[in-house]
Amino acid sequence: MGRSSKDKRDIYYRLAKEEGWRARSAFKLLQLDQEFNLFQGVRRAVDLCAAPGSWSQVLSRKLNFQEPILTRGGGCPIYLIGTSQSGCNLTNGFCGSEPTNIFVLFIRQVQKLDEYVTIYVHKYTHTSGTQLIPAPSSTTEPNRGDDGKSSEVKIVAVDLQAMAPLPGVIQIQGDITKVSTAQEIIRHFEGQSADLVVCDGAPDVTGLHDIDEYIQAQLLLAAVINEPRSLILRVQMCCCFQIFRGKDITLLYSQLKIFFSEVTCAKPRSSRNSSIEAFVVCQGYSPPEGYIPNMSNPLLDYCYDVDFNQLEGPNRVIVPFLACGDLSAYDSDRTYPLQ
Ligand code: SAM
Repeated sequence: MGRSSKDKRDIYYRLAKEEGWRARSAFKLLQLDQEFNLFQGVRRAVDLCAAPGSWSQVLSRKLNFQEPILTRGGGCPIYLIGTSQSGCNLTNGFCGSEPTNIFVLFIRQVQKLDEYVTIYVHKYTHTSGTQLIPAPSSTTEPNRGDDGKSSEVKIVAVDLQAMAPLPGVIQIQGDITKVSTAQEIIRHFEGQSADLVVCDGAPDVTGLHDIDEYIQAQLLLAAVINEPRSLILRVQMCCCFQIFRGKDITLLYSQLKIFFSEVTCAKPRSSRNSSIEAFVVCQGYSPPEGYIPNMSNPLLDYCYDVDFNQLEGPNRVIVPFLACGDLSAYDSDRTYPLQ
């Protein structure tokens, strides 16, 4: 049986279609948020490896921006029809052909992408009454910072592939392991640090688990640790990354523990049990004192042009060296006469 037919039976695949998410992965981030409250107080977020963009959709919807409603098929309906059975509301889009609720939308913008029409609404009325129903607070109220004041939300999404536009999401087409990409992200934040970094990055898998796991780990480390990207992380804030939870995953946990006070592995229900995929939620970014993030970090062993001996302080890894054996033992470099 082909993969697509299996996917179509998958409940999260179908829910994603119904609710207008670009990929079923959206539910993974939503479920991680239920557990870790990822979006609380977040004003600047980075979505690494973002295409086709369902995590960016989640960020866009959760952090301030007006709720987009996706409808299948052409045309731009003014009436939005949904069923209570399908859990229809303006937060999660609509589906179904049995109209039990009819909404009248006040449309701000209509955008047509592929088979979808995206409608951005100001407000809507329910036909059973004339009352205007405000959009959900999480999407209309600006996020508030620690100071209680609202401030501009900024979301930057990066991927190797191009992605259809999303409200309030700045897109960069680039490689997350490149310094130039990190610099571009920083430019968009205008010197301020990010509150949340999410990365659902997955390399093209080879099927050789050890290699796949290694490449995935390198992608993750490049995402978080490299200069200048680490400069965008505000101390104590949170990162959420996809990992391949293979037999050597402890090494990656140890590496992350150097930089974050709390590292938790999580498997949302929407992530298939048969998949090696899991997520790490890293909280409390607190790099070692004196640590200077840079592309030549020894954690990333693909930096061939780096002289690791030039690194200093916590940036350089020095392990104890111990000469063992009695001094009267044979010297292996000497030539001794035959007895
Ligand atoms: N979170 C996305 C969503 O919800 O729509 C799905 C991400 S998909 C599982 C993995 C993505 O990682 C792919 O789009 C791929 O292009 C991207 N990717 C892999 N390596 C990358 C790299 N070095 N730089 C940028 N993106 C990368």
